[in-house]
Amino acid sequence: QAFAAGQKWAWHNEEVDQAIGQKHNLLMELDRSIEDGKLVVVYQPKWDLSAQALDGAEALVRWSHPDRGLISPEIFIPLLEQAGRIDQLTYLVLRRALNDLGAWDKRRPGLTCSVNISAKLLSDSSFVDQAIAMVKAAAVSNGQVVFEVTETATLADPDASLLALRQIRKAGIGISIDDYGTGQSTISYLQRLPIGEIKLDKSFVQSMVTDKSNQVIVKSTIAMAHELGLKIVAEGIEDQQTMDLLMQYGCDIGQGWHISKPVSSEIFTAVWLDSVAE
Ligand code: C2E
Ligand code: CA
Ligand code: CA
Ligand code: CA
Repeated sequence: QAFAAGQKWAWHNEEVDQAIGQKHNLLMELDRSIEDGKLVVVYQPKWDLSAQALDGAEALVRWSHPDRGLISPEIFIPLLEQAGRIDQLTYLVLRRALNDLGAWDKRRPGLTCSVNISAKLLSDSSFVDQAIAMVKAAAVSNGQVVFEVTETATLADPDASLLALRQIRKAGIGISIDDYGTGQSTISYLQRLPIGEIKLDKSFVQSMVTDKSNQVIVKSTIAMAHELGLKIVAEGIEDQQTMDLLMQYGCDIGQGWHISKPVSSEIFTAVWLDSVAE
């Protein structure tokens, strides 16, 4: 037994120490960046494929690092999650998004704004209460704010997340299941949750023009979602052919580089609110 324990500690070598040190440094730098306002929120338009009109946008966070340039959320979100500090960042993004949505609403009433909510936060009741209070205090109407949660969130802690989702829905906030298709859950399980929308993962969408099996998955998921009364969003639309196929299949909303990359609120306002005709 003692021997096994000793072996386990053999893992604890210099490389591991270094990796832990780097993580720690990055977290400290992140703290400073949050204080200095170096976290940026950008918006990717959501395009209503059937109405051929702007539906709204998804808020996506960026870290503008003093020497390293823009750092992807794929790197620092997991760090904050592990450190148990993802709530701080989420409040920041939500506050910014609510503010920007309020400004857009004056020019173009009724747009939606989606905010990504980490899996773990659904079982944090003080987060859920505070996030709901923030949305209620904002100058936006029912259904304009959407929380995107991944399906793994709902599976990890089903009781707590169901409770949280019901509370969120009751407050008039929309719920979208992000990265749909990458997890284990079936659409019929998800339909029992108080959600309004599922978001097909970009891994299916990106290659659907050339990959026949992904094409079948996309087409049948759209049909199933509609049978169950859910809206469906496709992310990762990179060309016109993909967009045409999705429209042909009756997909409700589209997002992707072909429509627009994520942009600042200023550019979103100038390009999407001021110049695109209603
Ligand atoms: P996600 O929520 O699945 O967001 C979609 C990602 O796909 C975004 O990456 C977006 O920029 C990218 N994307 C959009 N259109 C295309 C396309 O046509 N092709 C390709 N290849 N990619 C496209 P991003 O902004 O780097 O965000 C990565 C992930 O980080 C997000 O995935 C989300 O899980 C997480 N994230 C971003 N912002 C936040 C946030 O404020 N809070 C939390 N908790 N997570 C966030
Ligand atoms: Ca998302
Ligand atoms: Ca996604
Ligand atoms: Ca993702």
